Amino acid sequence: MGRHSGVWRLKVAPSGRYFHAIHRRPLRALDSPPDCAQFTEARSAMKKIRRAGGKVRLFAVRRLRLRRCRRMLTALTVASSPLIMPLAIIEPAWPEETQQARREPQPSKCDRSQFRVVLDIGHTADALGAISARNVPEYFFNYRLAAQIERSLIDDGFSKTVLLATRGPARPSLLDRVARANGLSANLLVSIHHDSVPDSLLESWEFEDKKSHFSDRFSGHSIFVSYENSHRDGSVLFGRLLGKELKDRGLQFARQYTQPIMGRYRHKLIDPDVGVYRYDQLVVLRATRMPAVLFEAGSIINREEELQMNSGERRDLISASLTAAVEMFCNRRRPNRFRG
Ligand SMILES: [Zn+2]
Repeated sequence: MGRHSGVWRLKVAPSGRYFHAIHRRPLRALDSPPDCAQFTEARSAMKKIRRAGGKVRLFAVRRLRLRRCRRMLTALTVASSPLIMPLAIIEPAWPEETQQARREPQPSKCDRSQFRVVLDIGHTADALGAISARNVPEYFFNYRLAAQIERSLIDDGFSKTVLLATRGPARPSLLDRVARANGLSANLLVSIHHDSVPDSLLESWEFEDKKSHFSDRFSGHSIFVSYENSHRDGSVLFGRLLGKELKDRGLQFARQYTQPIMGRYRHKLIDPDVGVYRYDQLVVLRATRMPAVLFEAGSIINREEELQMNSGERRDLISASLTAAVEMFCNRRRPNRFRG
């Protein structure tokens, strides 16, 4: 706590089971913001879409009146600092390994300054991913949330955290992101995405005089792990820790992936308590040589949830959850243990 300056205030999480100190730091400029070129490229892609007649709106960019990527990174809400005192609550259904991670006494084996988390920004400025109910590309949601989580982790002492942005078309960018992640000797990879639905479930509506698509049928986040990842146990452990933190903050996971209606997107729910699914084929999980999860932070095709994903409050909850899960994972696993 001592390394921070600024105002601390105590807050009780929705579940009432944890006390959190939420720390608000004054906004400050970053000396050399990462991925500046990538963000500039993303903005040009947005311009192209606008010129093509699409009424794309990037809420964050407009609201923050961004002229340069530096200001974007600067202006993102900062630092939800993590869990301070976990209460020992016995939950028989919870795997023993995970319970131990949550009860880890202090001081721990975790050296935050040596523990590297790679935050992979899902999709690219050329392959933007899903389109939200209000016609905003998923890539921009992913970028904004990943940048906030990066600040949260760095402020929490995980100074080696890397924001990974890749370029180009979908398939080559997948291979590129795997190669870059493997080259970083990371201890954990989290790929940040926002969810949609299969095309067959889309409904039509008008948004700002433009025919648009939505589905309000499903909502919630989901966490995917691949059993083909070389660190399967670590991937599952982190997935469960993250799921538990999100649940403790009152967030619900998406349950539709077990349903036949999801077709080829149907997956096995390996943790029905906190919402961890198995998805072996995902390249970014299967080919990375470190524990890895893919995190769908919420559904942007759901009209109500899209608004929530645009709220600072939701992003604060998510980045606090992820930061707390990384702390527990790091406490449990020594640095370098997973390096491949
Ligand atoms: Zn995605």
